[in-house]
Amino acid sequence: MSHQTDANCIFCKIIAGQIPSMKLLETTHSYAFLDIGPIAPKHSLVIPKHHAAKLHELPDEYLADLLPVAKKVALASGAEQYNVLQNNGRMAHQLVDHVHFHVIPKPDEQQGLG
Ligand code: 5GP
Ligand code: ZN
Repeated sequence: MSHQTDANCIFCKIIAGQIPSMKLLETTHSYAFLDIGPIAPKHSLVIPKHHAAKLHELPDEYLADLLPVAKKVALASGAEQYNVLQNNGRMAHQLVDHVHFHVIPKPDEQQGLG
């Protein structure tokens, strides 16, 4: 299957293997990898193989695969508690203009201060 890509997009380059990444999981439509600037251990990103900047621009077939992959990534993290976040536009804190879901595990309560 050939996916629509953008030659200038950092996440398209990651999918193509032109930029290295710590891959966690790959499906026909999606790619999951560790965030390079984690705000928590195992902070991960789940992205579609189709280039689209914002969620509303992404074809449904790609959209439909993202949450099942995010679910597997969350499960594999072993975290009981976690955030799944997705930003659209600069005002909404989006820095990379290729749709991505953050999966951000919360540390175990035993390891934190409560
Ligand atoms: P945003 O603010 O757009 O929702 O989040 C973009 C995320 O992509 C950030 O958490 C940032 O650390 C991550 N990121 C940016 N460039 C790279 C990269 O080259 N490799 C990886 N693994 N993550 C990246
Ligand atoms: Zn892209």
